[in-house]
Amino acid sequence: MTGNSLDPHLARYAARTDGMRASAIRALFAVANRPEVVSLAGGMPYLESLPLAELAADVAQMIAQDGRVALQYGSGQGILELREHICQIMALEGISAHPDDVVVTVGSQMALDLVTRIFCDPGDVILAEAPSYVGALGTFSSYQAQVVHVDSDEDGLLPDALAAAIESVRASGRRIKLLYTIPNFHNPAGTTLAVERRPQIAELCRDAGITVLEDNPYGLLGFSDTIYPAIRSIDAENVIYLGSFSKTFAPGLRIGWVLAPHAVREKLVLANESATLNPPVFNQMMIARYLSNFDWQSQIKTYRQLYAERRDAMLGALEAHMPEGTTWTHPDGGFYVWVTLPDGFDTAAMLPRAVTARVAYVPGTAFYADGFGTRQMRLSYCYPTPERIVEGVRRLAGVLDGEQDIMRTFGSSSTRRRSLGAPSPSSPSPDTA
Ligand code: PMP
Repeated sequence: MTGNSLDPHLARYAARTDGMRASAIRALFAVANRPEVVSLAGGMPYLESLPLAELAADVAQMIAQDGRVALQYGSGQGILELREHICQIMALEGISAHPDDVVVTVGSQMALDLVTRIFCDPGDVILAEAPSYVGALGTFSSYQAQVVHVDSDEDGLLPDALAAAIESVRASGRRIKLLYTIPNFHNPAGTTLAVERRPQIAELCRDAGITVLEDNPYGLLGFSDTIYPAIRSIDAENVIYLGSFSKTFAPGLRIGWVLAPHAVREKLVLANESATLNPPVFNQMMIARYLSNFDWQSQIKTYRQLYAERRDAMLGALEAHMPEGTTWTHPDGGFYVWVTLPDGFDTAAMLPRAVTARVAYVPGTAFYADGFGTRQMRLSYCYPTPERIVEGVRRLAGVLDGEQDIMRTFGSSSTRRRSLGAPSPSSPSPDTA
């Protein structure tokens, strides 16, 4: 909703504000952040493992040596030294890129905004996995683009489902502009796109004249030593790749990037300049120094080990405590497990009772543009300790027991189904990360 009858500006808002939805669950998250609540809701990296004292000394030195540059306006494309580092990072995923084609953004969230702004007119269709990242759905909706979900399974987006979606959207006379996909350690599904599906998807989109928007903030946070080849490494001309330092270093710095085909890159720089003038020079220089002066690859290894332990704690607790008929994904990296409850549960309706029982999660409906996801929820294991995760899942199981008692008394309601989701009439709502 854009306002209420007491809002004197109501008649003056642009039509696109209709796509900016308030979240019914936002108020609950204020409660969920209280220390007594185990929050399995947010996707916050566990920054306690960063070398904070050393970083402080390095930043102090940066200000003393280069403060006049760090605190000044800068280039709309981002500083060259950071763009060079970014190319080296992307090389780990098989991407060969030139710093000229990289645009630094205020987090990859800003990159999502800029790409949508450049490509989408109201009514244009963006294809996206079912489920998909809530923050991207919010951005797409704010530009009045329509999201059509494409089914995915434990191995990510299904190429056959993609081909069928392209055909049926076209048959309905609508224009498809982008395929938005999160191939690695998906938010919220926790799945990874099978390597053999990647060229198939790249080819389907190229042949159909649809640009691929590959969003990959978690790619280096795999729990095995496998690094998956980016779709961008298969098709440099038709794929726009988004990266971020939020999950591998620090989200508070708000630095992400876009690697785009040359022509798109020029439009992105103009859009970046009109939105922010330039991404923060200070933060870019801090990250460039971090990448030069610190062993950032070891830091990522530390994060990976930490998150793998927490993933194990969560999967073990789900195995021990979830009611019969519950299924969940088995992430090999990233932050999230996607849980599907048996028929009849409504995770959005249940959330207030969960928060009262001192555990929080994100209801599945947040991750669909079309009302699916009623009996799904996203659990994140990145922030709480393994002990807290186990306690949180135990509390959640208690809430589910209570729900089953209610259902036995009053009956259940769930009907439609989807490969990784199920229904509800509510709208997408913002995530905490
Ligand atoms: N894409 C995905 C899939 C994400 O999970 C997130 C953060 N939750 C973002 C983009 C935005 O990240 P940031 O703006 O912090 O780089």
